[in-house]
Amino acid sequence: QEAIRQDFIRQIVRDDLASGKHAAIRTRFPPEPNGYLHIGHAKAICLDFGIAAEFGGRCNLRFDDTNPAKEDPEYVAAIQEDVRWLGFEWASLRHASDYFDVFYRGAEKLIRQGDAFVCDLSADEVREYRGTLTEPGRNSPWRDRSVEENLDLFRRMRAGEFADGCRTLRAKIDMASGNIALRDPAIYRIKHVEHQNTGNAWPIYPMYDYAHSLSDAIEGITHSLCTLEFEDRRPLYDWCVDKVDLAGHPELLQPLLDRGFPLEAGKPRQIEFSRLNFNYLVMSKRKLLALVEDGLVDGWDDPRMPTLQGIRRRGYTPSALRLMVDRVGISKQNSLLDISILEGALRDDLDAAAPRRMAVVEPLKLVLTNLGPDHEEALTFPNHPKDASFGERSLPFSRELWIEREDFAEVPPKGFKRLTVGGDVRLRGAGIVRCDEAVKDAAGNVVELHCTLDPDSRPGMEGANRKVKGTIHWVSAKHAVPAEIRLYDRLFSVPDPDADEGGKTYRDHLNPDSRRTVTGYVEPAAAQAAPEQSFQFERLGYFVADRRDHRVDAPVFNRSVTLRDTWAQ
Ligand code: ATP
Ligand code: MG
Ligand code: MG
Repeated sequence: QEAIRQDFIRQIVRDDLASGKHAAIRTRFPPEPNGYLHIGHAKAICLDFGIAAEFGGRCNLRFDDTNPAKEDPEYVAAIQEDVRWLGFEWASLRHASDYFDVFYRGAEKLIRQGDAFVCDLSADEVREYRGTLTEPGRNSPWRDRSVEENLDLFRRMRAGEFADGCRTLRAKIDMASGNIALRDPAIYRIKHVEHQNTGNAWPIYPMYDYAHSLSDAIEGITHSLCTLEFEDRRPLYDWCVDKVDLAGHPELLQPLLDRGFPLEAGKPRQIEFSRLNFNYLVMSKRKLLALVEDGLVDGWDDPRMPTLQGIRRRGYTPSALRLMVDRVGISKQNSLLDISILEGALRDDLDAAAPRRMAVVEPLKLVLTNLGPDHEEALTFPNHPKDASFGERSLPFSRELWIEREDFAEVPPKGFKRLTVGGDVRLRGAGIVRCDEAVKDAAGNVVELHCTLDPDSRPGMEGANRKVKGTIHWVSAKHAVPAEIRLYDRLFSVPDPDADEGGKTYRDHLNPDSRRTVTGYVEPAAAQAAPEQSFQFERLGYFVADRRDHRVDAPVFNRSVTLRDTWAQ
């Protein structure tokens, strides 16, 4: 598991350290606080923080908060919690908004160099002038304004003189470029919106490419890892870094130095990697927000959501996610991965990490008629079949048990290996029972099984080795604790809910059975769980004590993932 990870990004880092290009590396994770993080972000987090840690470098958490209309402190708090939950700690917590003064000075420098101009085209006109993939764009009629006029107008934009949308500051690059990202992209827009950190200090806000590249440069980020959709924008990223040249012009950084920030500016390199996408999920923040706002799920942390808060509540562990990221690897090719990779990582993680318990989700009473009404014993069970360090626990056993309704069949289908009238089965760790009678109610439903416990088949006895077809789990009816058990399944019922085919959208593909809540019974040692503790409920799957609702006297368990296999006989 701790094998050296090999991929093209780590190779670049290794080479850069070996050649002395960098004495130490710096990375950053730059979420926009406009929603909750999702499984895709886990990949970026594991790379940004993981690579820094592996190579003795530092990773910052930076909020890319340049679009105040959509951002919220609630998201800022959740993102920090999620990064820490995944097991990482940032070297420094930053905000793009910390750098607004520097961005502004950089923009004036661009104007003075003749590399930026104030443009009065409307958004629609800008689009019209931009051209297409096959047609070059046209120069804005405002492109040749003098430096003085540009400076004056930009300062007045900054002073709040103009209405939203009526002007932009644009980089002067090349309207004929084959790369549309280089066709005089906007670097500032007017937006009279209050910002969560800077209040009403700024009526203009920098655009993503400009703010992101300069933020990386300010922090001395050496390797700026991002997803593939930014590949086309790498020339713009480099253009911003080179033209503003913060490393060569530390005077631009004075406002930061005055506030006690260290001087660390450098020239960052952007490297793109494939996005993580799984089938049966949607991961765009916009769609996740719609699911929450329209009440299609119970909030951001609904255990069916692919948010980190959601899958955490579902019972996913940080180590399962890190394992998944390692298994998926990184490449330059986006793909839609099978959800079984995610589920498999959780199973493998919990198989090793989760203690075993017994629980019954659809109970049927089983009475051992040859035991006295007050018969009670404490049986000892290992907590983990493969790892003695988990220790043992005591499990009460008595005359009346709950078993799974589906472990009994009046008319057994072919190959049925569990209990039938006249047949026998092993009760896990307790002995072999024969079913003598199925008691029915007036409607003909089986309500109780009357069985005989073979007294020579108790654990440790010679007769316990007798071959029987199957083994089933149980809990003692008198001792078991009733529990709310939430049986979760995939939120969407089709592999590609995003496909938007035949006029349908992801909302038409919600799985109506994605959550079923039942009252089951759990053994006393399961009820004692701490919130967020995971168990394997034998033969049923992995379950977690709900982070918010579980109480020892009113247990609530979420099914994290089913088991691939039931017990071998
Ligand atoms: P979304 O498109 O889901 O709204 P985003 O890319 O806008 O997400 P950001 O907050 O900007 O979200 O993302 C922060 C970082 O996480 C970025 O570096 C981004 O490239 C990375 N990231 C986002 N989604 C994924 C994904 N599916 N796989 C890998 N990395 C991702
Ligand atoms: Mg983004
Ligand atoms: Mg996005």
